[in-house]
Amino acid sequence: MKFTDFNLVEALHEGVEAIGFEKPTPIQEQAIPAILDEKDVIACAQTGTGKTAAYVLPVINFAYNNVDKKGIKALVIAPTRELAIQIDKQIEGFAYFAPVGSKAVFGGGSGDSWDEQKNALVKGTDIIVGTPGRLIAHLIMGYVDMSALRYLILDEADRMLDMGFYEDIMKIISYLPEQRQNLMFSATMPPKIRDMAKKILKDPVEINISVSKTAKGILQGAYMVYDDYKIALVKGLIAGKEEKLPSILIFSSTKVNVKRIEQELKKLNFSLGSIHSDLEQSERETVLRKFSNRQIQVLVATDIVSRGIDIENISMVINYDVPQDPEDYIHRVGRTARAESKGIAITFVNDADMAKFSRIEKLLGEPIKQARLPESIGKGPEYNPNAKEKFGNRKNGKFKKKVKKS
Ligand code: AMP
Repeated sequence: MKFTDFNLVEALHEGVEAIGFEKPTPIQEQAIPAILDEKDVIACAQTGTGKTAAYVLPVINFAYNNVDKKGIKALVIAPTRELAIQIDKQIEGFAYFAPVGSKAVFGGGSGDSWDEQKNALVKGTDIIVGTPGRLIAHLIMGYVDMSALRYLILDEADRMLDMGFYEDIMKIISYLPEQRQNLMFSATMPPKIRDMAKKILKDPVEINISVSKTAKGILQGAYMVYDDYKIALVKGLIAGKEEKLPSILIFSSTKVNVKRIEQELKKLNFSLGSIHSDLEQSERETVLRKFSNRQIQVLVATDIVSRGIDIENISMVINYDVPQDPEDYIHRVGRTARAESKGIAITFVNDADMAKFSRIEKLLGEPIKQARLPESIGKGPEYNPNAKEKFGNRKNGKFKKKVKKS
């Protein structure tokens, strides 16, 4: 199948060509015709599958064909500002040859950015991409006219529910016209997502793009390793490999750990940066830009970047610890080998993370290959896939009790 097989306006084909997409990905093949056919869509697709273009192209197409009609035509709701910015950028790219505008609306910026967002909303910019909290903040002011809205898109719906945005989303919807086309994208389809879909979508076309599998082309491996040896292992894996591994993303679950890993690796003279929730929006953007531009080789991050963030050609992902939810593993390693390129994903498993690791293997439906530790590090813990799950953070050798995430 080719992009020209879709009934899209010429300006969009030019945009697709300029961006360099040669043929549609499976989600695009399935979603674009359904959306052009005016159907509601629920799609189970992880990031890296090309889901953004799958909804962005038909939406820009509609805006183009209705360029004389003023007003906001599509609202995309996304969980994080990073994702909102990225979606907005993709729209800008595809719409380069089309008179269609978009604006990202998210919190955390300066007063100027509030005013800019307000102007875009009041003026009726074609496509608004926003995070829930900030969208509501504008909507309750009463100056946003949503009467021309044709599309509501929920991107990373499962993430939004995990972040507690259900009420906010329903509130935003109360400002929208009843007659509209609804598109919902989610990496996973737990019952709570299905329940929400039932409330929002009408007779949707269901699309399922291999939920629980990681992208092809990712070489996955794991080390059983005690915490004290993890920095040495990182060093052994990446030192002197600036050419072979020009961009490495290291994930850790907590910002405390991210800061600590950053400090330790700085001592070893790696060129690196970090990203976590303590940073200002502008600081996060600067670090992400430097990483994308290859000015820094290593980015240490909490899960805020694991979903949705589109940094091209990451050569290696290191899970410094095992993520709490198996789906987060898929998101983390999905940062590499995007859209058919090759990549490496390595996971460090300590004695306390074995149960979590075995849940990931179950979700993948196959074991992850284990690598032997270098001799300088010695022996790691023995893998026990039947280890009991331990919830909580390890502190002073004890586990602090923590409520299990639902
Ligand atoms: P997404 O799943 O929307 O985050 O997209 C993942 C990555 O795949 C992004 O870098 C896109 O630019 C890229 N991509 C999306 N569709 C295609 C396509 N048809 N051909 C090549 N790359 C694509």
